[in-house]
Amino acid sequence: MTRLTIYAARWILPIDAPPVSSGEVVVEDGRIAAIRPRQTPANQCRDFGDAVLMPGLINAHTHLELSVLRGFLEDVPFFPWIRALTAAKANLTPEDWLESARLGAMECIRGGITTVGDNTDAGVTMRVLAESGMRGTVYQELFGIDDREPVAPILAALNEKIAVHRRLESGRVRVGVSPHALYTIRPALFAALRDYLQAEQLPTSIHVAESPSESRLIEQGAGEFAEMFARRGITWQSPHLTPTKYANSMGALTPQSLAIHCVHQTLEDTAQLAASGAAIIHCPKSNAKLGAGVAPLARWLRTDGLRVGLGTDSAVSNNSQDLWEEMRFALLLQRAVAEEVEVVTAAQVLRLATLGGAEAMGLADRTGSLTPGKRADLIAVRLNSSHIFPATDPYTALVYSARADDVLLTVCDGEVLYDEGEWRTLNASSVYAEVKAGRSRLIP
Ligand SMILES: [Zn+2]
Repeated sequence: MTRLTIYAARWILPIDAPPVSSGEVVVEDGRIAAIRPRQTPANQCRDFGDAVLMPGLINAHTHLELSVLRGFLEDVPFFPWIRALTAAKANLTPEDWLESARLGAMECIRGGITTVGDNTDAGVTMRVLAESGMRGTVYQELFGIDDREPVAPILAALNEKIAVHRRLESGRVRVGVSPHALYTIRPALFAALRDYLQAEQLPTSIHVAESPSESRLIEQGAGEFAEMFARRGITWQSPHLTPTKYANSMGALTPQSLAIHCVHQTLEDTAQLAASGAAIIHCPKSNAKLGAGVAPLARWLRTDGLRVGLGTDSAVSNNSQDLWEEMRFALLLQRAVAEEVEVVTAAQVLRLATLGGAEAMGLADRTGSLTPGKRADLIAVRLNSSHIFPATDPYTALVYSARADDVLLTVCDGEVLYDEGEWRTLNASSVYAEVKAGRSRLIP
C-alpha cells in the first residue's frame, strides 16, 4: 500500500524551479511525487496557510557534539581559549558527548535543517543522526601533527572507528573522514590517508585557510602555531605555499572533499580549488566571531563549476545552528564589504543553504530541492509572525526576516521529525536534563 501525504501552503519554493503560489507538495512513500497548484480539498491535505513549503535546509559544516560547550568560553583569545577548552573537555564522559550531539540535532531539526555535514571527534553523531532521522555525512576527525607518533597506529585506530560507524550507515546517513586541519595533520599522514581514502571510497571534510595564524604558519612557518610547535618539540617545515595550495599539494582537495572556511584565498587559490573539484563550505558567522575574516563568497559565486554550501560550524564559535541567521549574515556581510547591493542576492543565499549544500555534499540526486523523484526532505515556514508579515516575495521574506522558530514542520525522507512545537524522534526534556548535568561537570 502506498503512503500518500499532501502538504499545501501559500507558496511552494522548489529552489530549482520558480515559486508556485497557492500550491501543494505530494509525498508518496517518502519521495516527492508532484509539485502542483492547489487542488486537494482541505480535509484531505495538511494546509499551512500563510507559509512556504521548501526543501529542508543543509547545514554542511557543524560539530553537533560541541553543543554542551555553547557560551562556555566567550570573548577569549584563541590560545588561552584552546587550553581552557582542552582541560574542560577531559571532564566530559562519552555519554555527555552523546547528549550534547542530541541537543545539536534538536536545534537543527527545530530550525528546518534536514541534512548535516558533521565533524565528530568523540564519534557519537552516527548514532544521533540514525535515531533523530536526519540525513547527513558524519566525518570522523583525525589528528596527527607530531612525527614522533608513527602513522600506522593512527590509521589503524581510524579504520576501527570507521568500521563501527559503517554498521550505522543507511540511505540517510553515511560516513566520511575529517583530516582536521593543515596545522593538525603532518605531510606523512596526509600521504598515508590519501591511499586509505581512495581504497575505502570515503568523502572528506577539512578546515582550510580559516585564520590569519594558519596562513602565517603555512606560508612562513611563523606565528602562534609555529611557536606552539617549538614549545612542544614538534618539527614542522613550512611549504611556503598558501593554505589552499598546500592542501591541494597534500591531495586533500578532491571532488569528494569539503574545504571548510577558505577565508584567506587569493584569486589563484580559488581557481586551483575549483579545478580540484572540491567544494567550499562557507561559515561566515563563525569566521566573524573568531576574528578570522570575511571569505570571498561573491567571487566564489562568480566562479564557474565551483560548488559552495553554507554551514554554521559549532555552538562554540557561532553560537547557534540557525541557518536562517547564517544566510542573512552571509548576504549582509558581502554587501557591506563590497559596498554594493547586486553582489549577492537573497535567491543565491537561499540556494546555498539548500541545493548548493546538497551539490557540495554529493547529495543533489536525493535532496536540496523539491523535485519530483527526490526524497521528501521538506519544511514549512510561517510568514504570518510579526517580524515577517506582510510577505510579498518568498525569497526575500525568508532571507531578510525568517528565523529558526518560524519553522512549523520538518520532514526528512518522508518522516516527520518536528511538528509545531514537538520533536517526534528525540526526547527533548531528557536531552535538556542530561546536557545540564554534563555542563555542570565542565568545571570541576
Ligand atoms: Zn569546524
